[in-house]
Amino acid sequence: MPSSRPASGSRVPAPWRAEIARVLISEARIKRRIRDLALEITRDHSENELVIAALLNGTVLFLADLIRCLNLPLRLDFVGISSYGNNTRPGELIITKELRLDVEGRDLLILDDILDTGRTLQCVHQRLRKLNPARIRTCVLLEKTARREVAFQADYVGFQVPDLFVVGYGLDYAERYRNLPFVGVLHSDQQPTPTGPPQPGLAVVRKVKSP
Ligand code: 5GP
Ligand code: MG
Repeated sequence: MPSSRPASGSRVPAPWRAEIARVLISEARIKRRIRDLALEITRDHSENELVIAALLNGTVLFLADLIRCLNLPLRLDFVGISSYGNNTRPGELIITKELRLDVEGRDLLILDDILDTGRTLQCVHQRLRKLNPARIRTCVLLEKTARREVAFQADYVGFQVPDLFVVGYGLDYAERYRNLPFVGVLHSDQQPTPTGPPQPGLAVVRKVKSP
């Protein structure tokens, strides 16, 4: 599976220069890569009914652009999952919205913004597998391999990114920057600071809402 390396070069738009140090992946590169990903996904899912489960909230821009390029019938639903706090260390994972669509016997594509430690996608994958889909695949816009804690691989990856905290194109820091049309890096004095050692083992999942 090909995945492009990010190339810098685009200038940060003036209104963002005080906060964003550089563009890691430009809007044009994201657009091109999403077209390629969509071709791959369309080709792999021509035989069985597809359900997309997009993880809230980071996938909003990626999802909207990707599904417009998917040339096949599909159903769309969302899973809410988040960890406590605004820091970069994964804490307890909380399910804030359960999948509502029936996926039994269908092809399920789980979509997330970034695969980092792998805990989020592993947790969602384990939960959704119990709903008996015919097949589960995962697609992420970004992948950071440096901080992986669990053995989890995505089937479709937009870009590999270095071990930096990135924002934009759906990804936030304290709920800001999601609307940037590119993926960028904050100035070092504005980067979130880790607040403790990585937590070993699997995340605890508390159920907030019943299916
Ligand atoms: P994982 O469970 O794989 O460690 O992390 C997945 C989630 O952590 C992502 O869905 C995202 O919300 C958050 N995350 C991980 N790395 C980054 C990053 O560099 N920037 C932002 N904004 N969020 C990140
Ligand atoms: Mg997320």
